Amino acid sequence: MSRVLIVTGGSRGLGAATCIEAAKAGYEYICVNYISNKPRADQVVNDCLKAGAKAIAVQADVSKEADVVRLFNTVDEKLGKVTHLVNSAGIIGPYGRVDEIKADDLAPLWSLNITAMFTCCREAIKRMSTKHGGTGGAIVNVSSASSHLGGPGVNVSYAASKGAVDSFNWGLAQEVAAEAIRVNSVSPGVIDTEIQPPGRVEKVGPILPMQRVGEAKEVAAAIIFLLSDGASYIAGTKVNVSGAR
Ligand code: NAP
Repeated sequence: MSRVLIVTGGSRGLGAATCIEAAKAGYEYICVNYISNKPRADQVVNDCLKAGAKAIAVQADVSKEADVVRLFNTVDEKLGKVTHLVNSAGIIGPYGRVDEIKADDLAPLWSLNITAMFTCCREAIKRMSTKHGGTGGAIVNVSSASSHLGGPGVNVSYAASKGAVDSFNWGLAQEVAAEAIRVNSVSPGVIDTEIQPPGRVEKVGPILPMQRVGEAKEVAAAIIFLLSDGASYIAGTKVNVSGAR
């Protein structure tokens, strides 16, 4: 059966690496979601095409419910019903101590890191669940080592958003386990992508247990495994990809 993969935030970083590794692993249909960086999304699409997948780029701000609905409807029409979903789109910030941050400044963080994951999973379940006439599927949510490290003094709010990912992931996994859907997450440590503030990779790498930061493709490898039939009895799990941190 053909696999139809949607990766939110597929134009850069962990999402882009996941799209490319999925194409190399033989996924037939891949949707590269992005918000504004069309050239980078097109580049990922080209890499997927070269690896033999049919790939499309779809612009959608997944923090907006209407955009999520449009994203999944577009995939229905152009590629077929989604069978695999990776929720990678995410942001860090605002930076600072809790006593320095205004509530309004947190809205984009909650709406992307939490609500977007929720609505994308909802749309996927409507298509995958045997309860809704689907044939099942697999979902991977991207959490962060921050959810247990806590980010004190820097980004406690980001850590809290990823704590919500962990709770949601565990609850949803149980909710849909009998409907042929597996839900898991990965929890990356410090990975060299454009989400990092300038200089952080160079500064933090040497003091990590493996004396280096991770690469996007190392996270993608864990995601591809969790999506695969090789992980057929794995659900509700969080896989740390954080180099013993
Ligand atoms: P990144 O390199 O900054 O890439 C972010 C991606 O998300 C881009 O493709 C961007 O699209 C997309 N995006 C941003 N806002 C969006 C929105 N509202 N709707 C749709 N797409 C949106 O980030 P990354 O490092 O790959 O991070 C991916 C995930 O891993 C995030 O959830 C992050 O919290 C998590 N994570 C990362 C690290 C790390 O060290 N890198 C560690 C732990 C967890 P455009 O290209 O169009 O802007």
